[in-house]
Formats: sequence, C-alpha cells, structure tokens
Amino acid sequence: MVIGDPIRHSLSPTLHNAAFSAAGLDWVYVACPVPLGGAAQAVHAMRTLGIGGMSVTMPHKQGVAAAVDVLAPEAAALGAVNCVRRDGDRLIGENTDGPGLVRSIRDDLGFDPAGRVCLVIGAGGAARAAIKSLADAGAVVQVANRTTATAYEAAALAGPSGSVVAVDAAVDAELVVQATSLGMTSDDALPVDPARIGAGQILVDLIYHPVETPLLRVAAANGATVANGLGMLLHQACLQFTHWTGVAAPIDAMRAAYV
Ligand code: NAP
Repeated sequence: MVIGDPIRHSLSPTLHNAAFSAAGLDWVYVACPVPLGGAAQAVHAMRTLGIGGMSVTMPHKQGVAAAVDVLAPEAAALGAVNCVRRDGDRLIGENTDGPGLVRSIRDDLGFDPAGRVCLVIGAGGAARAAIKSLADAGAVVQVANRTTATAYEAAALAGPSGSVVAVDAAVDAELVVQATSLGMTSDDALPVDPARIGAGQILVDLIYHPVETPLLRVAAANGATVANGLGMLLHQACLQFTHWTGVAAPIDAMRAAYV
C-alpha cells in the first residue's frame, strides 16, 4: 500500500500492480489516504495487519521515519522514509528516492555521475535525496535554492563534495536536477534561466505531472538532453518492489504500465 495526502492520483498502484502481475505474485497494492499526523498509526496498522510492504509519500516521510523499528543508512541520513519493508518482526525504513534517481540517470540517460559537476536546484525532500545519492555516486554536487540557509543544510548531505552556488551556475554543470515544485502549474516562474542549459548538458526535471514542464521544453529546444521525473519514479519503485518481494523488478512491465 501507499500512504499520503493527497494520494488519489498516485501512479504507484499502477506500477506495482503491473509488477506483481508480471512477476506472477499474488499480491495487491492499494492507495490509502492518511491525513497529516497519521503516520505512526499507519505503521502500527502495517504491523498489526501483516501487510507486506508500504510506500510513503508526502506528508508522512518524516513521521514514518520516527515510527519504524530501524532506519536503513539512506533513510537515517535524510530523516525521511519512502518505503517500509519487513525483516522478520521488525519494520525497516528505507529511502529509495535518491538511489532511484541515480539509477535512472545511469540506465536511461547513460550518464555516470562519478567525478562530474551536478547542480541540484532546490533543497526540499526530493532535492535532499538527490544530493545525497549523487554524492554517494561520486559526483561534485552543487546546490542552489531560494532559501540559502536550507541550501547549506542540504549541501552538507554531500559532505566535502557539496557546495552552495547561485542558480546561474547551471551553465557549468554537466547534469542539472530541477527539484523544486516550480513547473507543476502553468503560471509558475522558471526555476532557472533556460538560456543557461543547452547542448552537452543533461536536465532532469523531477516533476512528472505535467510530463513536460516549460523548463524541459526550452532546454530541449536549446539542445540539452532532457528527462522528466518518471524515470526516478519508476526506478525508486523497482527498488521498493525488490525490498518487499526479494525478487528483481519486472521493469519493462512497470514502464509499459504508465506509457
Ligand atoms: P518540498 O520538500 O516542498 O521542497 C520544495 C522546494 O521547491 C524547495 O527547495 C523550495 O524552496 C522550492 N520552491 C517552492 N516554491 C518556490 C518558488 N516559488 N520559488 C523558488 N523555489 C521554490 O517538495 P519536494 O517533496 O522536494 O518535491 C519537489 C518536486 O519534486 C515536486 O514537484 C515533486 O512532485 C517532485 N518529486 C518527484 C519525485 C519523483 O519520483 N520524480 C519524487 C519526489 C518529488 P525553499 O526552500 O526556498 O522553500
């Protein structure tokens, strides 16, 4: 199941039910609307009802982190959980967002972040996951955010390879990860001047609704390689599937489910 609020339009049930079917597993995945403040009760319900696994989205990633028995290293560093798995009687909190992003960048875009300059725009939950995992993958991580204080906190997740820059530094980055919420509605400002992103650069906009943000459109027209957030969504779901079932995720069936 997945808990969140709002949760009605989540793609996760589509992805995971396609995966269970393709893998021949008699499992089912449902979306459960859980209001703010209900994270601990949801974890208790998972424990009591014997539910095999749980995905977690806003606003519960921190609340679930406080309610599970053990945090895996990624989740502990971020203080946020997007997946709960069972280990005997214990519930383990994982975070597959950042590893899912790095997998999508490597597998779908053919870009290895090791030793490369990567700019993350934003310092919220998605940005923090991206910063940590890009640094773990060996990237030189730059962070630009509207609120400078949170940019420094987020950049610290990258250790010595992290720094805070102005968003105009995009012109020097080989990979730009757009991790703010700007672009979800048509009247949003652009998070970065798109003239700063062009040929020879990769732009990943973590937004997937809409599937093409104005920033993606202009950067593609400038010659950049672009991708939306569906790759991260798919790969983080694959990692969750394996955490729960112990088998490799049928990624082609999952990808086919949402195109
Ligand atoms: P969040 O924690 O609320 O963070 C929002 C970020 O956007 C902050 O850095 C915030 O800056 C910035 N921001 C918001 N309004 C802004 C504005 N008007 N001008 C400049 N910056 C602004 O949200 P989140 O969970 O990280 O999600 C961010 C985006 O990532 C969302 O679009 C979400 O859909 C997407 N996402 C995608 C995936 C995926 O699998 N593809 C997973 C998670 C999230 P301040 O710090 O200055 O407030």
